[in-house]
This record gives sequence, structure tokens and C-alpha cells, in this order.
Amino acid sequence: ADHKQPVSFIQVICNYYIPFLKVMFTAAELGVFDLLLESGKLMPSTTIAERLGTSFTGMERLLDTCVGLKLLRVERTGTLYGSTEFSNLYLAESSPKSQYHHMMFFSEITFLNLNYLTDAVSPVGKIYGDSSSNLFDVIFRSEGEMKRFSHSMNSNWHLCGRDVMAAFNLSHFPLICDLGGSGCGLAKECIALYPNSTVTIFDLPNVVEMAKKHFVSPEEHRITFHEGDFFKDPIPEADLYILARILHDWDDEKCVQLLTRLHKACKPGGGVLVVEVVLNEDRSGPLEAHLQSMLMLLLTEGKERTPSEYNALFSAAGFKEVQLKKCQLYDAILGRK
Ligand code: SAM
Repeated sequence: ADHKQPVSFIQVICNYYIPFLKVMFTAAELGVFDLLLESGKLMPSTTIAERLGTSFTGMERLLDTCVGLKLLRVERTGTLYGSTEFSNLYLAESSPKSQYHHMMFFSEITFLNLNYLTDAVSPVGKIYGDSSSNLFDVIFRSEGEMKRFSHSMNSNWHLCGRDVMAAFNLSHFPLICDLGGSGCGLAKECIALYPNSTVTIFDLPNVVEMAKKHFVSPEEHRITFHEGDFFKDPIPEADLYILARILHDWDDEKCVQLLTRLHKACKPGGGVLVVEVVLNEDRSGPLEAHLQSMLMLLLTEGKERTPSEYNALFSAAGFKEVQLKKCQLYDAILGRK
């Protein structure tokens, strides 16, 4: 009896969670959720298979599994399949709150890399993050890959970007520079929330070129771009610098180097807003931060940090006043000069 619960829990994890994710990713990748959202009606599995160019047996089994997972619904027992509120909102690529690109990044990149997690924990080390290359050299080999990564990053801001940007009143900082702001997801939330703000995206030259082409429309004139390497090139003038999911990519030394450059660039009263999933001071959680930190171990030289670890980085760079605001998923830390 003592063993019953752990055995069934491990069965659930192995038999359910891992296939669950891959089934959901596969249906999204094949376009099942978009087809059912766009058609707005129930369809037989044969029509779905024909429209998406898949096998009949494979599609029927995929649809039945999606129904079992409550990602889709079925009517007239096993004959007509339809979308759900959840799939229309989060799984179809065309929805404004879509998590499609995030799922595709996980399915194609993260899942493969997770095979090397044992190596990352063992003395063998990591696959990226050695002295010769970093994650961005590896995943930014083509415009398509950069676009996919930026889309995936933006997926989170569709859901919680507003919450993070509202954590502090940023209306005193009209000129904002988002370092490593790639897909402009947070910048868009920022200009929507603060009507007097303009945001400059400072990112690597090829990322800026891609972002200008794919992530802003001509009407979004309050978002501008600046190409460069934030470790080497001059930092553009701004009232506030944003570092969203940047510090967790780098070791402490590089974080202090970057924050010191920003401290020098800041006017008195100016600041740096760091956005990360912050670990509890006693490292007891949140679980999202620990899981994210495992991915950082695998993919980068960085990690997730506790409030006092962020305070130490800010203070080594010269910032005196540092405040943390806990949000839904990503938290906000504001350091003022
Ligand atoms: N801030 C964005 C967000 O939260 O959605 C993207 C974060 S992504 C993890 C890291 C970003 O930093 C990428 O856009 C990458 O191109 C950029 N980056 C990496 N190294 C950089 C460097 N040396 N100089 C400027 N940008 C850099």
C-alpha cells in the first residue's frame, strides 16, 4: 500500500505527461487546431485528414487522443470533431493569445536538447555555453530560426507581458531601451500601457534586421531599432533599460559587466528593469523557476536567481536602490541610479 501512490504517480508522468505534450504539439504542427477554428464547424476525421494531407488512421487516432485530453471535442460518438474554447484561444496559431510558436520551439528544439540533460548535470558539461559559442550563435543560424525563436519568446508576453509592464509605474520613463528585445513583444505591451513612451529595441544586427521585417508594422512608429552587441557597443541613451530574460542567459561576471555598462549609461534617477522568474530566497520554489533554471543549465551559461542574488549583481554594478515586484509568472526588479 505504501508503494501504491508513487507507482501510480510515476506511471502518470511516464505514460501521460510526455505523450500528452507530444500529441498536443503534433496536432498543432499539422494545423488541426487552426483548421477547426477557421472552419468553425464539426468535421469528420477523413475530411480533416484529407485537408491536412495526413493518413486516415493516423489522424483518427490523433483526434481521438486529443478528445481524451480535452483539447478537442467529438459529437455523434466518434464521427464529428470540433475545436474547444481552449484550443481556439491557445493552440491555434491565428489566435492573439496563441502559444503555437512556444509549443513549436519546445517540440523542435527544447525536446531534442533535453536528451542531453544528464550530460549538462554531469561533469561533461553543456552543449552550448562553452567559451567558443553561445546559444545565440547556435540557434540563430538563419532568418527563419531567429523568427521562430522570437515568435516563441513573444508567446509568453501575449499572456503575461501586460502584468509585468504594470508591476511598476513606468510612466516617468518616456524613453525606454529594451536590450535583447528581439520580437518586440514586451515593447508592444509597454507602448500600449504608457501612451508617452517610445521603446528602442537594441539587439544583434541580424536579429534587428529580421525583427524590422516581421514584428512591427509601419504604424508602430513608437518602436525603433538599434543594432549592436550589448557587451561591446555604445548603449543608446534612455531613461529606462529593460533586460527581460537576458540575465538568466549569462554567468554572474557577464551580468555585472552588462549592468555596469547600463549604470554608466543611466542618467541620475534612470533605471534598469530586470524581468525574470525569481527563485524564492530559500530556493524552495517556485517550481517554474527551478524548471527554467534546468533549461538554462542545458542551454546557456546562466541560471535563475534569488532576490539577494539579483541585489548582489545590481549593487556590484553601482545601483543603490533595488525593488522587486512578484507577478504572475515573470517577476520585475527595478534598480534606480
Ligand atoms: N527580451 C526578449 C524576451 O524576453 O522576449 C528576448 C530574450 S532572448 C532569451 C535573448 C535576446 O538577447 C535575443 O533576442 C538575442 O538576440 C539577444 N542577445 C543575445 N546576445 C546579445 C548581445 N551580445 N547583444 C545584444 N543582444 C543580444
